Amino acid sequence: DKSVQDDLYFDSYSDVTIHEEMIADSVRTDTYRLGITRNGHAIQGKVVLDVGAGTGVLSIFCAQAGARKVYAVEASSIAEQAMEVVKLNHMEDQVTVIRGALEAVQLPEKVDVIVSEWMGYALLHESMLNSVLLARDRWLKPGGLLLPSKAELFVAPINDLTVEERLGFWGTVKERYGVDMSCMTGFARKCIMNNDIAVSLVTVEDVLSHPCRFAELDLLTVTEEQLRSVQGSFSCACFGSSTVNAFCVWFTVTFPGEEKPLVLSTSPFKPETHWKQAVLYLDEPVEVMQDTKVEGEITMFPSEESSRHICIHVEFSIGDLKRKNKTFSIPDGYA
Ligand code: SAH
Repeated sequence: DKSVQDDLYFDSYSDVTIHEEMIADSVRTDTYRLGITRNGHAIQGKVVLDVGAGTGVLSIFCAQAGARKVYAVEASSIAEQAMEVVKLNHMEDQVTVIRGALEAVQLPEKVDVIVSEWMGYALLHESMLNSVLLARDRWLKPGGLLLPSKAELFVAPINDLTVEERLGFWGTVKERYGVDMSCMTGFARKCIMNNDIAVSLVTVEDVLSHPCRFAELDLLTVTEEQLRSVQGSFSCACFGSSTVNAFCVWFTVTFPGEEKPLVLSTSPFKPETHWKQAVLYLDEPVEVMQDTKVEGEITMFPSEESSRHICIHVEFSIGDLKRKNKTFSIPDGYA
């Protein structure tokens, strides 16, 4: 049930490994830092809420930007480390760490700014955004600032070469060991190209078209209700002759800024992050040529069994082939 799932979820954040991975992800951590400093004018002398403070790093960025008070709310036991980090940086006067679920905490006042790093694999895995929206509705003053303030989802057809190489392996067994195992290829394809969302790094050369944005979330206005089904259509034209064997899905989030908004991107065209990309394999590879149209509709929704697990339904057509559809979900074992 939900509270058991939440306990498991928060437990996954009580170990050092996940925090190490996040803080070491310099694209992530530097972009948050810059996004916070660039909004310094709105933070200076103001009250900030950090939803899911973890080790407290974002809270301290806000205190360094001149916040009068930062409430660092964290449900897992990592909150104890956040308290030590705050102490070590002599920020006990500015930063108050509160151990508890955001849904249950009472703050002494409303806040001017909410900062949170809530994004999961394929953006919505973990469903932590719901907690940020609740924080917004309950604690953010009217006209307050959300960091980041926008999220966008993208898709592109890809030819995942590493998986093709893996499949090719069965054709090489005969020359290595004198046993023909090429009949394993179809079975291997079925096992690998299943309904799991694979979290892996996609290289630029594998991407077969320009990215297509299929959804945008304005975080100041989006509702929990709308997150129960995030839907959008896409239409891409292939660069040249190749084989589509998967769709690649990724996201960006944007920090508002006076001159230029700042984008944290998990695109395969940008430096890698710990989110990598989400890969959705087709059952059968499809040949494409230059300008072959790849179009369809994507729906993302929380799984029925476990609301923190994201599912992705893709309805698609490639060239003149009949429209197909496939539903994917993130397997267990991803935070
Ligand atoms: N802000 C930190 C940690 C981000 S990871 C950083 O940027 O490094 C997200 C954190 O949010 C995890 O530590 C998780 O335990 C916490 N979290 C998720 N949902 C929460 C909720 N509803 N209430 C409190 N903490 C939550």
